[in-house]
Amino acid sequence: MIMKTDILGFNLLALETALIDMGEKPFRGRQIAGWIYKHKSNDFLKMTNICAPLRDKLSKKFLIGKIQPLKTVNDKSSTCKTLWELADGESIESVLIPDKDRLTLCISTQVGCPLNCQFCATGRIGFRRNLAAGEIINQFLQTELGESERITNVVFMGMGEPLLNFDNLLTALEVLIDDLCIGFGARKITVSTAGIPPKIRSLADSGLNVGLAFSLNAASDHLRDLLMPINRRFKLQDNLEALQYYHRKINRRITFEYVLIKGINDSLKDAADLAEITRGIPCKINLIRYNPIDGSQFRPPDNKTVYAFRDFLYPRTPAVTLRESKGANIAAACGQLKAIYSKRET
Ligand code: SF4
Repeated sequence: MIMKTDILGFNLLALETALIDMGEKPFRGRQIAGWIYKHKSNDFLKMTNICAPLRDKLSKKFLIGKIQPLKTVNDKSSTCKTLWELADGESIESVLIPDKDRLTLCISTQVGCPLNCQFCATGRIGFRRNLAAGEIINQFLQTELGESERITNVVFMGMGEPLLNFDNLLTALEVLIDDLCIGFGARKITVSTAGIPPKIRSLADSGLNVGLAFSLNAASDHLRDLLMPINRRFKLQDNLEALQYYHRKINRRITFEYVLIKGINDSLKDAADLAEITRGIPCKINLIRYNPIDGSQFRPPDNKTVYAFRDFLYPRTPAVTLRESKGANIAAACGQLKAIYSKRET
């Protein structure tokens, strides 16, 4: 049996090269990109401006991959979380978050995650595999198909560490941004990382101009080593230098994500340290109240502590926002829906 290759997630150059390899002109690649990404076609045989023999050859050599929704959960604020089944039976999550005039899609880049951050449901699943570029893009395409409203922002903050699946992330970003593919604005895309400095620099050098969020969560190496084991390998100072490099290259301010956990990182001393280490980096700080997960000893701080932390930071840093973790009642912290679903299945 001939194994077909999933053509979804091929960037334009790869599509053109595949067509040249089949003895065709490169413009055929652009036509196919138009059918897949603009017309949302999942059938080569329906690509009517491509001659029948080529359509036939394409359908014998390639397939246009699909992911299936296994479960969708909505909450009162219309946050919608979807668990997708992949072709090999693995599953991943994406979350659609409406907020005023925005509709943000949060997508995954890995099945599980190897980084084991102590506050994260996905970290507990462990690492299963990287997503192919087509599987990353498919979360966008399938969500868009099911939505009446346009997705306005895309964040790579779902399951997995995007920079550990770097090549597929880059290809997915190229497909997302390229006008001849999806044509989504780079300024509306943010990649979030737990901190892999060499890859932060590589992303800056890619010239893709996407926003970068750094999942900080602790302002000292000592605490960050405990909360995010990746910090034992890549220390804060290495990351801060890489973030400065990113800012110099891309000229976009960095977002620092800081999950507030009761009694762990929510004191005014922590706030002072946070202001100190981010000084000199054009940035905004997103504070997020911890969203409890099953079996964790961590708890969210109370309102008084959260507001005191924010108010301490506000005059000392250029921009601070306080985000309530939307969808807490639908298990919207990454990896929670998969964890709950897997438990029910066993
Ligand atoms: S917070 Fe992100 S990087 Fe850390 S374990 Fe969870 S998915 Fe991985």
